Formats: sequence, structure tokens, C-alpha cells
Amino acid sequence: MKSARRIVIIGAGPGGICTGVRLLEAGHDDFVILEQAPGIGGTWWHNRYPGAECDVKSHLYSFSFAPNPAWSRPYARQPEIKTYLEACVERFGLAAHLRLNTQVHAVRWDDDRRVWLLRVGDGEELEADVVVSAIGMFGAPVAPDIPGLDRFAGTLFHSARWNDDHDLTGDAVAVIGSAASAVQLLPEIAPTVGQLYVYQRSANWVTPKEDTPFSAEQLDALGDDPDAVDALRNEIFRTMDPNLTFDDVPRRALAEAAGRSNLEVVEDPEVRRKLTPNMPFGCKRPLSSNLYYPTFNRPNVELVTEPITEITEDAIVTDDGQARRVDTIILATGFATTKFLGALDVTGRDGVHIDDAWADGPQAYLGITTTGFPNLFMLYGPNTNNGSIIYMIECQVDYVMQLLARMDEHDLSWIDVRRDVMDEYNTALQGDLAGVDVWQAGCNTYYRVASGRIVTQWPNSMSEYRARTEQADLDAFETA
Ligand SMILES: Cc1cc2nc3c(=O)[nH]c(=O)nc-3n(C[C@H](O)[C@H](O)[C@H](O)COP(=O)(O)OP(=O)(O)OC[C@H]3O[C@@H](n4cnc5c(N)ncnc54)[C@H](O)[C@@H]3O)c2cc1C
Repeated sequence: MKSARRIVIIGAGPGGICTGVRLLEAGHDDFVILEQAPGIGGTWWHNRYPGAECDVKSHLYSFSFAPNPAWSRPYARQPEIKTYLEACVERFGLAAHLRLNTQVHAVRWDDDRRVWLLRVGDGEELEADVVVSAIGMFGAPVAPDIPGLDRFAGTLFHSARWNDDHDLTGDAVAVIGSAASAVQLLPEIAPTVGQLYVYQRSANWVTPKEDTPFSAEQLDALGDDPDAVDALRNEIFRTMDPNLTFDDVPRRALAEAAGRSNLEVVEDPEVRRKLTPNMPFGCKRPLSSNLYYPTFNRPNVELVTEPITEITEDAIVTDDGQARRVDTIILATGFATTKFLGALDVTGRDGVHIDDAWADGPQAYLGITTTGFPNLFMLYGPNTNNGSIIYMIECQVDYVMQLLARMDEHDLSWIDVRRDVMDEYNTALQGDLAGVDVWQAGCNTYYRVASGRIVTQWPNSMSEYRARTEQADLDAFETA
């Protein structure tokens, strides 16, 4: 049955693509995917720094409906992931529904007409019955608040907006930040730059990454046997799922031991000491790499842990008074991760703006719907970050598809999650979060809003999230 609902999806990353595929499958064809970038892939379109790669094994970081026997290695790199997502768009016939270079500026619910009005592109107005926000969590790169940053006269860019036109060969380069992106890009650029300064605020746990490329024989075997690809995916899931709650103390101790033994390759004991974390494993996002620590044995690499006090036209100054001259600064300083729907200008029922609805920080029911914003569904929304995000997104899309089907069955014009249901859900969720002791150790600022509430993380396993989203129940919603 073809639904008459007009659906707008915002974003053409994994979330937008998954939604498009499932809509077509269910017979919806009146939908458009609006993407501000000139290409598809979301995170994997924007983050093209050298060494960018997945830290979830690719056979699980891919859609269940589009297994890929040809992943070249356990943890695929960005070009391969982007190509995979482009192939999905092609294979499932999404191109006709895509509008690239089209930013959504504002989204407003019209109470009388029961439709969403969207202001997009150069002032164009669009109307939709349903909006799916697939804008991701990592869309807004953050620059550090360092005096003089804007005075720097050399080349300056964020790792998430890599400057393809700038050749780093022979440059004196500073990388500010030592978390996920830095761990991946430093080993790649160290051999080509002249001098590399790594500015670290706090050390992270970096465990080994078993990432030997698949052999031709292994690839042939996977290519010939879809069951073997399924089995591999299931095995990765079974290994990863129990570790996501961080409540297994012996496992955490093993991870710390693995991190310490990974560190042993660092030859200089003082550098090794500075790279040794002083917080428990899991307190910050765990990282893995076999290439990161050996980078610090190179003669052209210096680890700087003194706080930066100032940036001048051509140097970075630390609080011991040292000025290191640099040609290029790369900001590996992460993203503003706690805005979610608040990154858009969204007004819901009775003219309530999302910033007011979320004055105490983002919250939602199952991370998907928030009270006062009918027919608006979020993917990778509040408190859904954990595990393979593609797996989590598939759960969310399946849930939204069930809701759309129920709306058609009952001929509803809108649904809006009940406040009591959302509140009860969030009270329980915050209780579960409080139980993850390593997240209470005070080091994970990117998970929290000003009030201290954790708004990004899902505190349970992927199976638990699947179980909670498996049955969409209209009783949780006010309907009209
Ligand atoms: C460097 C990096 C590495 C990562 N590694 C992993 C990993 O190993 N495993 C894992 O599970 N997750 C990883 N993630 C998280 C990753 O973001 C998700 O896995 C996944 O990409 C989320 O998909 P999405 O479609 O929800 O969002 P995104 O991939 O972020 O896509 C959102 C899209 O929406 C578009 N958009 C945003 N605002 C607008 C607007 N106003 N109008 C129009 N378009 C808009 C953006 O341009 C973007 O293309 C990583 C993230 C980063 C940054």
C-alpha cells in the first residue's frame, strides 16, 4: 500500500540512507532526503583526514540488509565506508530522492494545518507531514578557546574539515588534541611533516587494534558464502555487546592491561609516563590503534603536555614560556555533541521552540521522539550513543516504520509522545546512567550538558536497545 504522507529526511549519512531504503521497501515514495553537503555519507563524507577509519568492526558497522563480504580489513577506512554508503544509495534506488547542497535552516509545526513547514536552501519553503532528523551527533566541529587562535597567520584547519589543498610535506605542524581523530591521523602525517608537535591535555587509553587486512582466500570464502558473512557479523556482535555497559570490572582491568602493554613500545620513559592515562578505562571514549604509540619514537615528534596559554602569528606558547614555531595547526579538538535537534531552528506545538523545550538539556523517548514535536522522529538522538551506531540507527528506523504503519492503519494525522511516558523513561535512563561508575568519574565532558546530565550515552547493550524498540506502542503517544 502506498502511503500519501509527505516525508522529509534531513541528512544523507547512514541514518538518512537507512530511512530511505526502509521507506521504499514499505511502499512510501513521497519523500526527499535533504543534505547540506555536496556528497552523501555524513560523517564519512565530512571526515576525510588521513587515517580516518572505523573503530567498530565493519561487518557490524554496515546495514543488516546490505552485508558487504568485500570489506578489505576488519576496521575499514573512510574511503571504503564512503564507497559502501554510495553503493547503497545506488543499489536501493535512492538517488532520485536526494537533494544535495540543500541545508535545512528552520522547521516549524503549523498547529492548524498539522504540517511541518521547512525553510531550506536559499529561502525555499517545503511542507511535510513527517520529518525525520538524521543530522547526526558529530556535525559541529569545535575550536578550542585559546587566546590568539584567530591571529595565527599560517594554515589552520579542523581535522573534520581537512584542507585537501594544503601539502604538509616538510611543515612544522601542531596537532592540538589527542583523542579519537588525533590517534588516527598522527601516525599518517608524522612521516611526511618536518616537525610534529602533539598538544595533549589528558592521556587516553589506547588499546591494540587487530586489523590485519583480510587475505585473498578469506575474501573469496566470504564472497562465496553469505552465511559466513552473517556468522562473522553475529560473532562481532556477541563479543562487543556485553562490553558496552562497562560494568564488568575484570574486563576493564584487562583493557587497562592491554593499554599498558600497548604503551610499552614507547622508548622514552618520560614520554611513556605522560601518555599513561590517570583515569579508569571507559571513563572517556575507548580508543584503539597499533600505530599511535610508535609515532612518539620518531625523532621529529614531540609530545607537549604543558597547557597552551597563547597562539601568536607563527607559534604556540605554553605556560612554561616556550614558544614553538609552526607553519600549520590542525585542530583535533572534537565536536559539539550535545545539541541534537537543537542544532536546527525547530518550533513545535503551540509555538514552543526546541531550545525552550530542552532548556535543561536534550531528552527524548528512546532517543527518537520528544514531547511537543509531533511526527518528528530523530535518529541517533539523545542517549543513543553506544556500540555500532549503524546497528542503533537500524533499530530506530524500524521503530519509526512501525509508527508510520500504525498511523496509516488508524488514519492518524499526528502522534506526539506523552510527557509522562517520556519523563518516566528518562528517570529510569538517568538511573541506569548513574550506575555506570566509570562515567561518573568526571572526565567525559563531551557526554554532558551544563547541568551535569549525560545526554549522549546509551547506558545499556545494543540488544537491550533492540528489545526496547522492537514493538512500537501507540499507547505511548497522544494521537489525533
Ligand atoms: C571521525 C568519526 C569516527 C567515527 N567512528 C565511528 C565508529 O567507528 N563506529 C560508530 O558506530 N560510529 C562512529 N562515529 C559516529 C558516526 O557519526 C555514526 O556512526 C554515523 O555516521 C551516524 O550517522 P547519521 O546519519 O546519524 O549522522 P551523520 O553521519 O553525521 O550524517 C548527518 C548528515 O546530516 C547532514 N546535515 C546536518 N545538518 C543538516 C541540515 N541542517 N540540513 C541538511 N543536512 C544536514 C550532514 O551534512 C551529514 O551529512 C564516528 C564519528 C566520527 C566523527
